[in-house]
Amino acid sequence: MSAPAMTAAPVRPERIGAADLAALTERVAKVTAEHVEHTDREAAFPVAALAELRATGLLGLLVPVEYGGLGGTVADLVEASIALGRVDMSVAMVFAMHGQQVAALVRHGGERLRAEVLPEVAAGRVYLASVTTEAGKGGHLLSAEAALAAADGELLVDRFAPIVTGGEHADAFLVTMLSPHATNPGQVSLVYARRDQLEIERSGDWQPLGMRASHSVALRLRGRVPEHQVVGAHGDFRSVVTGVFGPLAHLGWSACWLGTAAGALSRVLRLLRSPEGRKQSNLESELLLTRLSRARQRLDTVYALLVQTERTVAEAADLTPPRIQLRLNALKITAAEECYAVVDELVDAVGMRHGYLKGSPTRLEQALRDLRSAVLNYSNDRLHLADGRLALLDPEVRFG
Ligand SMILES: Cc1cc2nc3c(=O)[nH]c(=O)nc-3n(C[C@H](O)[C@H](O)[C@H](O)COP(=O)(O)OP(=O)(O)OC[C@H]3O[C@@H](n4cnc5c(N)ncnc54)[C@H](O)[C@@H]3O)c2cc1C
Repeated sequence: MSAPAMTAAPVRPERIGAADLAALTERVAKVTAEHVEHTDREAAFPVAALAELRATGLLGLLVPVEYGGLGGTVADLVEASIALGRVDMSVAMVFAMHGQQVAALVRHGGERLRAEVLPEVAAGRVYLASVTTEAGKGGHLLSAEAALAAADGELLVDRFAPIVTGGEHADAFLVTMLSPHATNPGQVSLVYARRDQLEIERSGDWQPLGMRASHSVALRLRGRVPEHQVVGAHGDFRSVVTGVFGPLAHLGWSACWLGTAAGALSRVLRLLRSPEGRKQSNLESELLLTRLSRARQRLDTVYALLVQTERTVAEAADLTPPRIQLRLNALKITAAEECYAVVDELVDAVGMRHGYLKGSPTRLEQALRDLRSAVLNYSNDRLHLADGRLALLDPEVRFG
């Protein structure tokens, strides 16, 4: 682990409540707001916000209390991601994606790995990055090209990772690779690797359109990890995806996007209601009112789908039925499209000065660039193809 002092986080008597969660999230949001202009302009990782995520214990939100974590639920992760997304989508995504990795460790890590890692996450010493995308196979989650090699109870990792959010600041990685015993490209293993177990080489620059503060660099990871650092059974990453990775990715990302679009609308409304806004805009304009209405309608639609999908995930014993997979994919596709559309339309609503230029208090320009990544971040095209196949498996078109 990165820090030398290794005192375990104290065990909390009970899981975190809503008021405490809101207060901790507010602390991170405040620090994020202080740095957001700089981190976006410089495409710099939000180190101050990560430090606050560590200090507040929010990195351990999903770590059970018996390991010293906050014992939060997926609903808590969603709430906190919305709140952070209102300020900065990059910070929200850093947080939500880390939560997804932690949930995979909690659910699928072996006892020894959980005992080693979860108290460290709870104590704020381990920020986890995700390595699933690969150069040859692109975003496809359920296959891998680079293979793990097994030797003397250890696994040899040699993996090029074209895009790793926070990769240069992460204390550990969850990496997908072909299982050492694989007979086909679908037998993928998920491996936990600490930074100090790896040689890490960065390649290229990070100069994207949006999501600039996510600092999602390309890395080459090489090293050895003990066999017990496999998460779930060798070759069975599919189970991790169905039960944890997929649902938490779609819920977490959608929450970040919703937060970003809601933050944008909120800033526009505050501007319009301000004395300056009242002077410059005609608040009785039917075009403006209709645009505001549509923005709000899109947000309420995404919120309803997000909350409903989160409940389905919390209550369902089995997430594999087509109707549940379809719902999860519908959430991701809908949130990506609608949240972008909200900000796009707000640009029309307020025009050049406050819609298109940097430096406006609405920050629509940044929100639009950030939200443009949503359809790409696990491509909506891929999900539509999967959904077409899933739809054919459910000819009764069941919803409940
Ligand atoms: C801000 C951001 C942060 C990210 N962070 C990480 C991270 O930390 N770790 C990580 O591993 N990944 C990360 N990713 C990668 C992300 O999860 C996706 O895997 C990646 O964006 C997909 O890249 P791609 O569009 O090049 O590839 P692909 O998914 O391969 O798609 C390329 C294009 O080809 C088309 N296409 C290709 N194959 C198919 C198919 N079978 N069906 C339909 N259409 C197809 C699609 O139209 C798609 O737009 C991040 C992405 C973003 C935007």
